[in-house]
Amino acid sequence: MATDTNGAPNDAEAPAGGSTEIAAAAAREGISALPAGTTHAQLFAALQASSSSSRPAPACRLLSTFPAGIRDNGLIDGDTKNKMRICCLREGCGSLVLLEGIAAVKTSAEAGTTPRLDLPDKPSHTLLPPQAPEGVSEDMWHAQGNAMIFENVSFTKAVDGKGLKYLACGECELGPIGWTTVEQQYWIVPNRVGYR
Ligand SMILES: [Zn+2]
Repeated sequence: MATDTNGAPNDAEAPAGGSTEIAAAAAREGISALPAGTTHAQLFAALQASSSSSRPAPACRLLSTFPAGIRDNGLIDGDTKNKMRICCLREGCGSLVLLEGIAAVKTSAEAGTTPRLDLPDKPSHTLLPPQAPEGVSEDMWHAQGNAMIFENVSFTKAVDGKGLKYLACGECELGPIGWTTVEQQYWIVPNRVGYR
């Protein structure tokens, strides 16, 4: 049983504003269930632990862990928008690609031409599953808008003279995870990204 051995009221000796600022920072960081009697040092340690710069990104789930795949209720809302955040699936990276509610499910047939992602002279990273065979339509994430809709992504230079650019993780360059051929239209391959 943890008890406060010195018996001092927790905030009595806090410098003016100090505890309020830390509490506000804790609220911003989503720390809510700190036990009563938490000291400033403990609170500060909790903030350090939760700061994105000092902790590894949370693990991302693979598409294969959702029973119904991209159409799983855990992944899409009523408008078929992504319910979970889309992130890099590389263990130890997990960089955030898209926030929730940005992309919607469409078939690759709706994209028109589906570029090949696994090229003989430039194969995809081995962490990424093979792309569906040519001509086979599959469910994709579709997002539109300027590049600011992404949290972190990298684009290749146009590769074919027709504006085709591949998308990759903005942090570790794992890719291709998708492509864009028409300005402000992005297609992301669901099993080449993770979810959290
Ligand atoms: Zn990454």
